[in-house]
Amino acid sequence: MNIQGQDVWVIASIGVVTADLPQGNDLAGVLRQNANKGCRSCTISKDSFTDFTQDIALTSRYHHLTDSEFALISAETVISQKKQLSRKYGLKLQPNILDELKRERYLQTPQDIYHVTAGKIGRLLKLTCELFSQEGENDFIKTWKDFEKPKTWSRIPNPISHRESFMMSDYLRLAIIMPFILNRFLKITSLKNNEAKNIQQRTGASRINLVKNIIITCWVHIAKTMSMVFKSKFTINSYEELQQSLKEEMNILPKVFSEFVNLPNLHVSVHLLMHAKTYGTLINTQCGIKEMVHRVFKAMVPGQIARILN
Ligand SMILES: [Zn+2]
Repeated sequence: MNIQGQDVWVIASIGVVTADLPQGNDLAGVLRQNANKGCRSCTISKDSFTDFTQDIALTSRYHHLTDSEFALISAETVISQKKQLSRKYGLKLQPNILDELKRERYLQTPQDIYHVTAGKIGRLLKLTCELFSQEGENDFIKTWKDFEKPKTWSRIPNPISHRESFMMSDYLRLAIIMPFILNRFLKITSLKNNEAKNIQQRTGASRINLVKNIIITCWVHIAKTMSMVFKSKFTINSYEELQQSLKEEMNILPKVFSEFVNLPNLHVSVHLLMHAKTYGTLINTQCGIKEMVHRVFKAMVPGQIARILN
């Protein structure tokens, strides 16, 4: 190609693939997250998804090893054997079409923090709301309505009655204010007695009154981790801080709520430090960036959606 009078080579290559959990797995050639080895970054079994003590270097997936595993799957002629190998490696029966290109399928298909963070907050919100007694629900709605939210925020729907209409950004904003809201009103009578007892038992808290603090602590951890994963700059120290807050979050959430045990969304935390170091930050590869780039291209090429006319 001639650019400003000079002949230059133009090479189109794949930079990074951003996708939600299931689609990201598809694009990396890995089975979906409900398979036994359904993580696209490592081969840990789904029963150990929220174990932060794993040796990541040992369990990680590596492009060249996957190539040879795909070769073994494809060399197998009996379909039942093929499927058995596919399950053994947690890989699809066939490599992905993107493998025709030169790429590193795992490093270039990082996990998306936007989806995983909103997913975690959504789950914690649902679980928290389910803990509320009638009194707790009333007090929560009152405190929620009275809370001074920033004027620039668009209206967030009522978290108890209209959670289904939440957008991802609503979850992220809610997580910022939730620790303060809970701190204002939460009492032990705000919680259903059996649910509070259950949490007391799970966490080994000495008094039932401590359960409300434990719930607030969960929200503090999720908010703190959110602020770390969306950081626009990192230093060697703050990478460590990121890892620390991910670890603490993964320690507390499954301890308090059984619904977080081995949750694929939470497991992703194990890999975020690697992605952050590969691309500088985690926001560089978040889906939102892709949406913005897509909007730019769409504006440049109007009517790009193909239509077949007879
Ligand atoms: Zn993994």
